[in-house]
Parts: sequence; C-alpha cells; structure tokens
Amino acid sequence: MPFDPVRDAVLNSPATEGLPTSPSVARRATHLSVLLNSDSEPLPRTSSSLSQIIHLEPTDKLSSVKPLKKAQETTLSPSDSRPSSSSYFQPASTFPPVMRPPPLLYNPTQRVTPPDSILTPMSKAEMEMYKSYVGKGTARLVKRKRPRDDSDTGDEPPVKKSVGNGGVVVEHYNARPEVGVIQRLDSPIIGLKNFNNWVKSVLISKFAHPALVTSSVRTQRNKGKVLDLGCGKGGDITKWSKARISDYVGADIAAVSVEQAKERWEFNRNANRIQASFATYDFCSQNLEDVFAPEILEKPFDVVSSQFCIHYAFEKEETVRRLLRNVSHWLRPGGTFIGTIPNAEQLLEHLRELPPENQDLSFGNAVYKVRFESREHSGMFGRKYWFFLQDAVEDVPEYLVYWDNFVSMAAEYNLQPLYKEEFHNVFTEHQDHSEFGPLMVRMRVMDANGESSMDEDQWEAANIYIAFAFEKR
Ligand code: SAM
Repeated sequence: MPFDPVRDAVLNSPATEGLPTSPSVARRATHLSVLLNSDSEPLPRTSSSLSQIIHLEPTDKLSSVKPLKKAQETTLSPSDSRPSSSSYFQPASTFPPVMRPPPLLYNPTQRVTPPDSILTPMSKAEMEMYKSYVGKGTARLVKRKRPRDDSDTGDEPPVKKSVGNGGVVVEHYNARPEVGVIQRLDSPIIGLKNFNNWVKSVLISKFAHPALVTSSVRTQRNKGKVLDLGCGKGGDITKWSKARISDYVGADIAAVSVEQAKERWEFNRNANRIQASFATYDFCSQNLEDVFAPEILEKPFDVVSSQFCIHYAFEKEETVRRLLRNVSHWLRPGGTFIGTIPNAEQLLEHLRELPPENQDLSFGNAVYKVRFESREHSGMFGRKYWFFLQDAVEDVPEYLVYWDNFVSMAAEYNLQPLYKEEFHNVFTEHQDHSEFGPLMVRMRVMDANGESSMDEDQWEAANIYIAFAFEKR
C-alpha cells in the first residue's frame, strides 16, 4: 500500500488546542493546515520527566458522537465495586471529573519546513476534493466493504490464504484498507481509538521509559531499543519516536501491514531519527533470528511491546511458549514487556450473563460483538471467540488469555508481572495525573471541558481489554 503523506502528517502531527471546536469543514481545513505546519520535533528528554516522552496524537472529530459528559462530582473511585463494564459508564451527571487544563494556543517557536515553502490553510473546495481524492497513497480513501466469503472481487490482488485460524487473521489484517485522512477523522469509533492510543502512551511512559533511559543502545540524542511485536501498520512508531528511542524493530505476520509500517517510518525518517528494521514474522511459529539478520539482534531489546495481538498465540501452549521464548530471549534483564490483551474476566462474565436457553452465544453493542462457540471450556488454551469491532476488526477468531496462566508461564521465562489493569481502571487511575490527564485532552480522548469523545458503546467496548507490563529478571 503506497504511503499517504497527507494522512500521515495529520495522524502524526501534534494536535493543537485552542482551535474552534465546531466540526465544520472550515474548521477542519484550518485544523489540518495547522497540523501540517506544526513542529514535529520532540522535546529534549531527561530521565526525570514524563512529559518529555508522552506525546501528542491524532486529532479526531469530537462532536461526531454523543459524548460522555464529565461532571463536577466524583462518584466513582478505583475501589468501587465494578466488575461489569456497564457499571463503569456513568450518565452525564455522575461521570468522574477530570482535569480541565487551560487551552493551549498554537505557538510554534521553530520552523521545520523549508524556508521557501508556504503552507496555506486548505480551502473548503480542497477539503471537498480530498473527500473523494484518489491519488498516491489514497487509492483506498473510499472505504471498501470486504465480503466475508471468498467471492471478493475487489480491485486488490487476492491475498494468499493460509490454513487454520492464523490464515484468517493474516488475511484480515492484510486486506484491511489503510484509510485516508478524512476517513480516519471520520471513524465512528475515533474516540475509542484515541483512548486506546492514550492507554498505550501511559504504558510507554510508565513502564517502557525507565528501561529506555538506562539502555546501553544510544545515539547522541536517542536512547533505547524496542521490539514492536505485531506492529501492524506501524501506528505506534510515532509514540516511540516521541519517546526518543534510537532503534525500532517492527514485526508482524501480515506482510502488507509490515510494508505500510516501513513506509510510514521512511516518510518520517528524518524527523524521527530512529533506526528501524521490519520483517514479516509469525510469533507463533518462528524465532526472531529466523527473520532478522544477526546485526539487527546483536544488542538485546530494552522493551518489547505487543499491542492488541498476543492473544492470537493463545490457541495452543506451544505457540504461547514460542512467543514467550522470543520475548524473553531477546529482552535484556531489567527490560520490560508491555502490551494489551483481551479482558478474559469481562468477556466470560458477559457470556455467563446470557440466558441459558440462548443458542447464539453472542453479546456486544453497536461498536463490538463477541461470539463464543461454547459456554464451557476446559484447559488454559484454545478458548476461542469471534470478534468484531466496528471500523477495525471484522469477525476474526481470537483466544482468551487467562491471566494467572499467562503469569505462571511467563515466570518460566523470567518475566515478572509489574502491572495488570483493565482499561476502565487505567482511565480511573490516571485521569487526574498531572501528565496523563492533560495528555487525554491533547490526544482528543476528551475535550477541554471534560467531555469524552466516546459514547456509551465505545466506553463499554474499551473495557474488553487490559493493559499489562512485565519485567525481565
Ligand atoms: N499493534 C498494532 C496496534 O496496536 O495498532 C496492531 C494491532 S492489530 C489489532 C493486531 C496485529 O497482530 C495485526 O497487525 C496482526 O497481523 C498481528 N498478528 C496476529 N497474529 C500474529 C502472529 N502470529 N505473529 C505476528 N503478528 C500477528
């Protein structure tokens, strides 16, 4: 998939505050132009300040969904009885308060574009044009619906099918279109996507940062080496760039996604100033040394990050062992393994709540759907369900990760748990944090008035994941 520079500029430029919040085209045109002109140079980092590694993220269309309103009174605390996701959604009057940082004004201090270039705001007409623009890197701006059967006669070459569930996963991620700027901003679940990005940023700041600053892999300016396992289309490269790492290694089973990740990195190469290597890699069946040259692996990683993907390995014990073997083998002692996985407790609770007479073991809402094939299951592996997430995942087979089992297996590979929290609690824990609270506003998880960009369904869907961190002993 060719690289789309406009999309990437928008997605990876610092969001700006103090801009009008109307969703009109005129506002977006101004907003885009500001983003495209904005300074992408990260701040200098010292080991002591979180603010220097947490970053600004893509903008979204805040007013496109019915917001969850944050109110003045606090009615929830982390210790409130919870476990149901729906109990965490509170109507407007009871949502916990959040920070209300003053809006920041766009105030660039240095120019990053060539001196002879002039970037002007997009006109209304240009914005209209980009809605249907098909050009370099935007051939899929018009979103295609991918049929679920094999009779897809779309304009893309057929993706090679592998056997088994792994094949379905590869096919799905390879075929998933890379959408353009407008579609990204218009995603019906943009609030949820922003929230997920915020959670990942929290993990990076809290658990990757300490390992990065003590790294022996460094350049004059940057520090630390990261393996992004299941890197997808490289959506986290900007986060790592902001964290000022020096080396990034991206691996994913979907070759098309890997190519897009590489293009994303190449496009921002000068700004990022990080070395990067990419490979198509199946963490269920391969070792890293099978696909990366020895010089890439010469020094161990300070951080292994695996976001929204290792649950695919939990089909069998041997595939989990392969995964853990690779994580541990290539991670230095003191390094961290961070990630996000399905919230097994939450999903099983929903399953238990289904009426006994139900043949269809599905639940969900307008944003997500989960379908189990059986009510009961024995064993720690292969607990399969089918997962649909609007605008992201189309009915793909996934596996539950039983946390205790994961921890005891990880211990065999010298990985000790540091952190495990479901996404709602990550929010509750950090909403008032001096850095992560304002970061939520900058990443458009909510606006300066404390209004969430997620509606109730997105908020519920958010809690079907948990965040984790391990340390290599
Ligand atoms: N980590 C990225 C992110 O957070 O945006 C992508 C997440 S996406 C939901 C899941 C990714 O896991 C897909 O890119 C998929 O190709 C990858 N994946 C699934 N099974 C895999 C395997 N066995 N080996 C490597 N990658 C795999």
